[in-house]
Amino acid sequence: MSVLIFIDQADGHIKKASLEAICYGAKIAEQSGTVAEGIVLGAVNDDLPALGKYGVKKIHHISNEILNHFDAQLFTRVIAQVVPATGATTIIFSNNVDGKALAPRLSARLKAGLVSGAVALPGTSGDFTVKKNVFSGKAFAIVNIPTATRIISLNPNSYPVSTGSGTAEVVPFNAQVEVPRVKVTSVNKVTGEIPLSEAEIVVSGGRGLKGPENWGMLEDLAHALGAATACSRPVADVHWRPHHEHVGQTGLAIAPNLYIAIGISGAIQHLAGVNRSKVIVVINKDPEAPFFKAADYGIVGDAFEVVPKLTEAVKKLKGIA
Ligand SMILES: Cc1cc2nc3c(=O)[nH]c(=O)nc-3n(C[C@H](O)[C@H](O)[C@H](O)COP(=O)(O)OP(=O)(O)OC[C@H]3O[C@@H](n4cnc5c(N)ncnc54)[C@H](O)[C@@H]3O)c2cc1C
Repeated sequence: MSVLIFIDQADGHIKKASLEAICYGAKIAEQSGTVAEGIVLGAVNDDLPALGKYGVKKIHHISNEILNHFDAQLFTRVIAQVVPATGATTIIFSNNVDGKALAPRLSARLKAGLVSGAVALPGTSGDFTVKKNVFSGKAFAIVNIPTATRIISLNPNSYPVSTGSGTAEVVPFNAQVEVPRVKVTSVNKVTGEIPLSEAEIVVSGGRGLKGPENWGMLEDLAHALGAATACSRPVADVHWRPHHEHVGQTGLAIAPNLYIAIGISGAIQHLAGVNRSKVIVVINKDPEAPFFKAADYGIVGDAFEVVPKLTEAVKKLKGIA
């Protein structure tokens, strides 16, 4: 009857999105009078018992080194062994890259109903209904999961992280781990930058910045704010910026606390990837730019004048030389 939460890690560190998933799963467990348990795959450097303060009571840890690197097929097969052993009837993932690969696979394997991209706790009366975003965040759907086992993947930044007291019991789980069918021969990682999908603040640039040589001012602002950088699709298409920074319908969908769009028109395909941001600030010299309709704050002005002033103000506020 328990709620089982997949606790996602990268390079031995628990991802922020997983803390949200734990708090979300713990609340569902509380609502249904059961306990929240977690599953962690691979070696972890972070303090697992300390995750108890987010509400998880027990963590099943499979530390087999084969699981140090993400493999959707392998991970699914391992999680599918943990679910029946724990008697879990509700399984929670974050709707991040890993969760998007795992939740549908597990759903098919367990014949469990899945709601991907949940944005709120399930309803407590009658059916097991979950609210999710549809049409790129333009509407909500309330979906009923009628199966005995249910899977929910939670949209990042949809549920607050809160802490209490308590320590999680960490127990090794003896899972059968097969040799992966796919062998990863090398991993090239971008270093020294805040990963876009995890960033609290994102500074993003569009064609209005005129060329790659002007990105220095955007990076200065990002650096001062402790933000990640992103861009519109045409910017990545003409190689002003790398493709992993492209956000939108065909790029990464992000939900930071603050999204600053500089010289981006606000086409619907761009908005589809950023409209879940908590606060949107738009800087554009055209007062008719569509992005202003989606903005919480807007500055009508030339980016080349506004951005350096903004950076200077942020640095002053933070006491950065
Ligand atoms: C199937 C499909 C999928 C797509 N997927 C995506 C996607 O995932 N992500 C995405 O971003 N786009 C996507 N697009 C493209 C999208 O439709 C737009 O063409 C694109 O977002 C526009 O990029 P932009 O705003 O950078 O450029 P533009 O539309 O050229 O806008 C530039 C903006 O900069 C402003 N500006 C110019 N100079 C300055 C200045 N000095 N200071 C301040 N502002 C200035 C202008 O007023 C203008 O609003 C997709 C399109 C299609 C058809």
